[in-house]
Amino acid sequence: MKTQKSEYLFERAKERIPGGVNSPVRAFKSVGRNPLFISHARGSRMWDVDGNEFIDYVGSWGPMILGHAEERVIEAVTKAAADGTSFGAATEREVELAELISTMVPSIEMVRMVNSGTEATMSAIRLARAYTGREKIIKFEGCYHGHADAFLIKAGSGAMTLGIPDSPGVTRSTGNDTLTAQFNDLASIQHLIDAHPAQIACLIIEPVVGNMGCVPPRKGFLEDLRRLCTEHGIVLIFDEVMTGFRLAPGGAQELFGITPDLTTLGKIIGGGLPVGAYGGKREIMKLVAPQGPVYQAGTLSGNPLATAAGLATLRILSQTPTLYAQLEEKSRSLESAFTSIVGKHCLPATLNRVGSMFTVFFTSTAVVDYTTAKTVDTGIFSRYFNHMLERGVYLPPSQFEAAFVSTAHSEADIRGTADALEQSMIGAFDSL
Ligand SMILES: *Cc1c(COP(=O)(O)O)cnc(C)c1O
Repeated sequence: MKTQKSEYLFERAKERIPGGVNSPVRAFKSVGRNPLFISHARGSRMWDVDGNEFIDYVGSWGPMILGHAEERVIEAVTKAAADGTSFGAATEREVELAELISTMVPSIEMVRMVNSGTEATMSAIRLARAYTGREKIIKFEGCYHGHADAFLIKAGSGAMTLGIPDSPGVTRSTGNDTLTAQFNDLASIQHLIDAHPAQIACLIIEPVVGNMGCVPPRKGFLEDLRRLCTEHGIVLIFDEVMTGFRLAPGGAQELFGITPDLTTLGKIIGGGLPVGAYGGKREIMKLVAPQGPVYQAGTLSGNPLATAAGLATLRILSQTPTLYAQLEEKSRSLESAFTSIVGKHCLPATLNRVGSMFTVFFTSTAVVDYTTAKTVDTGIFSRYFNHMLERGVYLPPSQFEAAFVSTAHSEADIRGTADALEQSMIGAFDSL
């Protein structure tokens, strides 16, 4: 694979940008190579500056559920741009988007638009603290909720990949207010609640984890959490930045039939532009300024481009009834290909999948939480990743991330990927 142009850009980038990238996992550090610089993408395909073509399963880390440069989304953004990119004033699209979000995710009675998932989660915990008059929060080891200080404790995603789940620069007092539990382990939460009576403002969770790789909740786990939170007056926050509009029109909460108090959104809701949102029960949301005293603001929040892209994307998702069944079918055929390859060659690897989110873990242990996720062999992952890339399949360059299937992936893409998968799995273990 030719990479001269990417190498040259990376040399220049490293001089002026920390690590040469504007978000850590883009650096490909954990897979032992330098990053590719992307020039353009369309549908399921992505091209780098050296002209290499890939079937893309990163999908901008989640947003591109309709594939890249979807015609109707691009048209909506282009039209909006021509009318002015930002006014810092109320617009009609913001009202339409808020109404559509409430329709698709009924637990969201009121919603506030922000500019990223990070902003959504940090605002949601401020609100939960104000609502309960309590200070502590519970999160799960290996879950990632953006890069705000309160969440960089046993964090997943890039922090986990780079081995820095607890970041320097986060103060001890902030760290003390973040309690961590084990995913899928109710006793670990009960223990924290007992140890800190009436001090826990909220519990925040990725209802299906994507950020230590894909890890589904065990049967009944989310129900148990809902019951515990209600019993103890704890605000239950579903961080659906990744799962929202991905697993169902109404996200993981629709799929599992659980009603959280607050929900955070991002990724798909922006249709590829920088957007986030948080919303939920009216009784809680009415505390947000200017209706209430909890301050939160944003110069570019709800701007015309972001809301145009978001509206176009959500309209397609809500108006295409067969869309999620088709995503499921394509993702399932990838999973069956994997299962038969692993069976045929007796390979110690396992695949977790919920809908169009999946991760291949290089371990023979079932991955159900942070501890089991850490049993993987990242060296084998790295070889597998590089084999796939050389065969034209672009996966997340980390063992602790989810890959995504989009509506633009064709049957032929899936078959091609299954072939590359077989050769790459064999190659990854052969070179041992
Ligand atoms: C990506 C992600 C975030 C952070 O969103 P940004 O837009 O990157 O700030 C938060 N929570 C979850 C579950 C995510 O997947």
